Amino acid sequence: MMTVRKPNKNNRPEGFGDAEDLNRVAARYAVRVTPAVYEAMQAAAADDPVARQYLPDTRELEDGAGETPDPIGDGAHSPVSGIVHRYPDRVLLMPALHCAVYCRYCFRREKVGRDEAVLPDEKLAAALDYIRGDENIKEVILSGGDPLILSPRRLAGIFTALEEIAHVEIIRIHSRVPVADPQRITKQLCAVLEGSAKPVYLAVHVNHAQELTRDAEKSLKKLHAAGCVLLSQSVLLKGVNDDADTLETLFRALVRLRVKPYYLHHPDRAAGTAHFRVTLAEGREIMRILQSRLSGICRPVYMLDIPGGYGKVAVDPCRLHSAGKNAYHIEDIHGNTHFYAQE
Ligand SMILES: *Cc1c(COP(=O)(O)O)cnc(C)c1O
Ligand code: SF4
Repeated sequence: MMTVRKPNKNNRPEGFGDAEDLNRVAARYAVRVTPAVYEAMQAAAADDPVARQYLPDTRELEDGAGETPDPIGDGAHSPVSGIVHRYPDRVLLMPALHCAVYCRYCFRREKVGRDEAVLPDEKLAAALDYIRGDENIKEVILSGGDPLILSPRRLAGIFTALEEIAHVEIIRIHSRVPVADPQRITKQLCAVLEGSAKPVYLAVHVNHAQELTRDAEKSLKKLHAAGCVLLSQSVLLKGVNDDADTLETLFRALVRLRVKPYYLHHPDRAAGTAHFRVTLAEGREIMRILQSRLSGICRPVYMLDIPGGYGKVAVDPCRLHSAGKNAYHIEDIHGNTHFYAQE
């Protein structure tokens, strides 16, 4: 067992700024941690990779270059409330705009934890009508906010509605709850997931192996037993996981828990998050190292959401360089270059 060093005698975390400034941060952006997250912190200090993700920091009041309230351009692709439709075959459905915890680097931080907490029934009905009306939509991604904060009964209502829409083939859930608030993964919730007639893919948001507590592991086991295909999403964050060793440990731990690392997200330019940001070159160098160390099942794709709402694209290091018509120099994992020409 790791010992948890409790906050110092002033009852404030160390290294995040003074109390008055922290109140200003909390007035601007939602703050919440759970007992599970608190347990996962080895210290309530700025150099702890879990504390840093959740405890407010006065640097959040600074406006960094290129930061916007809507860094990935959700607004431009929202035909009705609760829907973001950017790619023809899949939509985000956001039935809740609150979360079990609030991540300090959140890309939707201007929205979550402040607007109406749950999408009202009539707006949810309109969002479901939108999905019903577009046969191109094969996959519905419950996102938010955190969809697993909804009561099992409310979630069951959404599942039932989606099951009745013939063109929807896959239900996907994006959630921080399995690691940040594992107590919410109850029998009732698992029964809803297990009862789904359509495949359920669950992408768990986790950034550091230290977050994978015993309770988090148990919740992932239950979700797997409930028939969910488990994926992970991580955000590359300065001071949290911006080195190959830390990510290797995380991805190996996830695979042992039957979770396939899906995406490693380059951090978005959300307001007040400059202290979390790494450069694309740094991210690509980390991925280059991981490409040579990890198997395909351990390795996520490195993704950038292009600022301005142009969508996500893979930005993994490229080992292919043009060498004339239909010819390439290809670099292997040891850095040696080979010539490949099309016959
Ligand atoms: C990220 C995202 C998705 C999911 O994209 P995948 O590449 O399928 O994981 C879907 N819609 C929107 C609007 C998104 O931002
Ligand atoms: S759980 Fe997701 S939506 Fe909620 S604060 Fe964290 S990153 Fe943002």
